[in-house]
Amino acid sequence: MNAIATADLRKSYGDLTALAGLTLDVPSGELFALLGPNGAGKSTTIRILTGQLRPDAGSASVLGVDPVEDPVGVRERIGVLPEQESPPSFMTPREYFDFVASVRGIDDDALSERVETWAARLSFREKLDTLNTDLSRGQQQKVMITGAFLHDPDLVFIDEPLVNLDPIVQETVKRFLESYRDDGNTVFLSTHDIDVAAELCDRVGIVREGDLVATRRPAELGEGE
Ligand code: ADP
Ligand code: ADP
Repeated sequence: MNAIATADLRKSYGDLTALAGLTLDVPSGELFALLGPNGAGKSTTIRILTGQLRPDAGSASVLGVDPVEDPVGVRERIGVLPEQESPPSFMTPREYFDFVASVRGIDDDALSERVETWAARLSFREKLDTLNTDLSRGQQQKVMITGAFLHDPDLVFIDEPLVNLDPIVQETVKRFLESYRDDGNTVFLSTHDIDVAAELCDRVGIVREGDLVATRRPAELGEGE
């Protein structure tokens, strides 16, 4: 079954064409990346699939739900982490997770168990009660990743998950995403970094100027992409 399917998605901002008829399928259980230079349309695609933005034309299905017709229904079922997002500066990670749990309807037992599990997997347990504003960029990204996964969604969208992270944190995040995929879930990420796509992903969709120009296995990714 496809976790994600789109057909001929189009989106312009004024005169600027961000998506020029993008069609793609992502099967369930895949770690998939959209790879392309800045401005290629990756974030626009993610914003449409996550019910944050209406396309001008075309159709999409996310876990069998139409994100254009039922954006709330899609958002309930997925995890989303936009690019370079930070947790609220006036909260600690633990307070932020309490907030996410209240919005997502996660009960107290599941919440404390998952916070323990994710914080241990991503190595930030000792920071759970430190103000977010006092965390490094890498620690903040770990907090945001945990927040996006806290309701245990089957499908997660992450825009540029590794940007501005030090190499050790990058490794931790990569291993975490792989283990999540190995549990049978789907991960859809965007990256402008061919090495990230080649190392981490099962399949890579190459976007240029708002269109999918190829879909490749990592081993097939060559120079110039
Ligand atoms: P990136 O290219 O790094 O993925 P985005 O394109 O997602 O960054 O831009 C981040 C934010 O800025 C988004 O909310 C997007 O809608 C907005 N944005 C991007 N380009 C423009 C632009 N040319 N004019 C106005 N807003 C823009
Ligand atoms: P990517 O994520 O691949 O960097 P985006 O989807 O963010 O690409 O952007 C695609 C194009 O649309 C870019 O030229 C960007 O500047 C433009 N764009 C994105 N968001 C906006 C916006 N809100 N207003 C105007 N232009 C935008």
